[in-house]
Amino acid sequence: MKNIAVLGSTGSIGQNTLDIVSEFSDRLRVMGLSAYNNIGLLRSQIKKFNPEFVAIRKDNIPVLKRDLDSRVKICDTNSGLKNMIASKDIDLVVVAISGSGALESVLEAIRQKKTVALANKEALVMAGSIIMREARKNNTQIIPIDSEQSAIFQCLQDRNKKELRKIYLTASGGPLVDASPNRLKNISVREVLKHPRWKMGKKVTVDSATLMNKGLELIEAMWLFDVSVDKIEILIHRQAIVHSMVEFIDGSIIAQLGVTDMRLPIQYALTYPARWQGVLKSLDFRSLNLAFEKPDFDKFPCLKLAYQVARAKGTAPCVLNAANEIAVEAFLEEKIDYLDIYRIIKSVLSKHRVLKNPSLKEIISVDKWAREAAKKLIN
Ligand code: MG
Repeated sequence: MKNIAVLGSTGSIGQNTLDIVSEFSDRLRVMGLSAYNNIGLLRSQIKKFNPEFVAIRKDNIPVLKRDLDSRVKICDTNSGLKNMIASKDIDLVVVAISGSGALESVLEAIRQKKTVALANKEALVMAGSIIMREARKNNTQIIPIDSEQSAIFQCLQDRNKKELRKIYLTASGGPLVDASPNRLKNISVREVLKHPRWKMGKKVTVDSATLMNKGLELIEAMWLFDVSVDKIEILIHRQAIVHSMVEFIDGSIIAQLGVTDMRLPIQYALTYPARWQGVLKSLDFRSLNLAFEKPDFDKFPCLKLAYQVARAKGTAPCVLNAANEIAVEAFLEEKIDYLDIYRIIKSVLSKHRVLKNPSLKEIISVDKWAREAAKKLIN
């Protein structure tokens, strides 16, 4: 029996994770759940999975406690999440919280020597060097949940890094891949949120429209697989069947393919290193017509920024991430236009002097500074 905690259980990754747990209820057990403010859904998850610990924002605790079994330990996310992660009964922590708020939980899980199934991108983008150093020190495994990182993880398995020539990171292209540059000038929030392939949260859908999502994945892959960013090439692959590929020095390429369904990489993260009988249908190769294109860096300049900050390392990716979070939030609130997202990130980056080997404290203060700087530009 594997005992798991799901942080961010009411988001789309969290819900899919729990779907898989229900499929394998004889082998997986939910010990902990945490959510932000979707109390209704969290309550039904508690009733169904009967976890030992639940963490939620403090002001939501009284509402959640109403008509719930009193045996469940309900705590405040701020003060109680650490204790939940530290519980000796938990083997694996699924980090499905979006945004930079996940950083602390990721580090705590690593320090408690829990296996981390990581869906969050921002933590690694902000503090990749620190997270990977801590993971090595504590001998903890980070298993990616994101479909592309999971693909690379699967293709690279046990290979010597010296044999790696290149990583092909694939991108569906997002909802605006065919939009004319003119249309991008006044595209609405509603149009941006229509994603053709994956159904996801709002933040990540906007990120996939600007291709910043791929930019964040680029930085994430650089840390996760310890490769130079110049060995990672982004390919637009609209069908989203090849989830990413790895090329070795002899020219051989290994790709990971599968139906477009988040449950595939999530299940692998939960069952790794084993594979369990899945519920998804097989690929029908006769109906496939796989195509790959170069991304348009002029139409999606956020990708350029991502390569730049990945080369600069230090605090640069943290600034990019923070400014992006604030800009996307402002776009969703219709305070700025779509194209302003890039302008704001670029402008905040230009004001920042990169610290080469930042401590966690410095990263957190740079993150805060970048958010303020972005907010000032928005106002
Ligand atoms: Mg992805």
